[in-house]
Amino acid sequence: MSNLFYQSRQPRPFLDRGEGIYLFDVDGKRYIDGSSGAMVSNVGHSNPRVLAAMRAQMDKATFGYRLHFRTEASEALAAKTAALMPEGIDRVFFVSGGSEAVESAIKLARQYALTQGQDSRWKVISRFPSYHGCTLGALALTGYDPLARPFDPMMRDMPKIAAPTTYLDRDNLSEEERGLKYAELLRDEITAQGPDTVLAFIMEPVGGASTGALVAPESYYGRIREICDEFGILLIYDEVMTGAGRTGKFLAAEHWGITPDIIALSKGFAAGYAPLGAMVARNDIVEAVLDSGGFLHGFTYAGNPLACAAGLAVIDEIERADLTGNAARMGEVLKARLEGLMARYAFIGDVRGKGLLLAFEMVSDRDTMEPLPTALNAHSRLVELAYERGLIIYSRRTRGGITGDHFMIAPPLIITEAQVDEMMAILEDALDAFALDAGL
Ligand code: PLP
Repeated sequence: MSNLFYQSRQPRPFLDRGEGIYLFDVDGKRYIDGSSGAMVSNVGHSNPRVLAAMRAQMDKATFGYRLHFRTEASEALAAKTAALMPEGIDRVFFVSGGSEAVESAIKLARQYALTQGQDSRWKVISRFPSYHGCTLGALALTGYDPLARPFDPMMRDMPKIAAPTTYLDRDNLSEEERGLKYAELLRDEITAQGPDTVLAFIMEPVGGASTGALVAPESYYGRIREICDEFGILLIYDEVMTGAGRTGKFLAAEHWGITPDIIALSKGFAAGYAPLGAMVARNDIVEAVLDSGGFLHGFTYAGNPLACAAGLAVIDEIERADLTGNAARMGEVLKARLEGLMARYAFIGDVRGKGLLLAFEMVSDRDTMEPLPTALNAHSRLVELAYERGLIIYSRRTRGGITGDHFMIAPPLIITEAQVDEMMAILEDALDAFALDAGL
């Protein structure tokens, strides 16, 4: 028995080391990190430049409490981050992870509303399915029942609208009309809740594991922004998974030219070299809150110099090696290969995503998109078959009839075309074994 525990009993080998897109266990077995852990390791493992920057910071100081010192690493990372954000989104608040970034965003939004005399505004509308974190505030926004419902009595659940799962729709609408149809759900919900009670709308611009890399039709993004503006509601983009180049732009928001009011970042932001996240907000929002007496929120490790030195080196590396461009290029290659699997495996019903945030979904019938029977346990079976063969992928089965078994394919942004081939060969071998085993 180990003294350590996580969500469930899941014995895994001991990790020895990482190198680029590969991880090695203590027995020397090599794994392709096909999901960058949990969509984290954007610059790959053991990047020598990042490690050197961290060592240099370690030799100076690893902690200086923010009330006692400013640090060069945190100031430099804040400046660099602000320069990568849309115009006007230039105030950076550091945290240690994605849930903390989301908590910070909704608390800043609430305090800003108070400075505007809008005490009645406190509801944050989100989408179902979605994932925004597991702390109670972020969980209240998370549209994923198995994780959230047991804690209902302990938190204030927030209103949800359906995520734009257009790949399941069998209507006669055009893509543009579908996008607008789903965006109008926000207007309906705001109206139903009472516009003067609604503070913000939060969304993942490309969905994560809860939807399997869901991308909305183009028309959705602009209309959501318009609706938020119409009702004076803040738009929060949760770019915890999509940020730092993952989708082929530094922020996914850039694909649609959207300027949110607040952005949450983590995961690829320090790419697993240190626990780090950030909440980035409009300058006037931050100024109003600071003028009103200060932001009533903060974490001990905020702006930790070692974490910030890692984050800075990671972003430098993303820029130096044009990893955002590589994510766009390799994303196209990989997506085409995944789409190619649909010709071979009838049980693959959809391939979606952007850049190197990709997913495929298994179904029992591609026309109706009926999920595979739960008893098949496809989401964990394929993951295990791939793992045995040295490929790590990430899966989820969202219950409630909205999505079925889907698998995230999201390797480090440094991946080469030859490595895409290598990864696909293992994936196909695992899919063959799954099909045989499941009698499909
Ligand atoms: N938001 C999104 C979109 C995420 O994907 C995640 C994690 O998967 C989180 C928030 C929570 O981040 P963390 O697990 O670092 O708290």
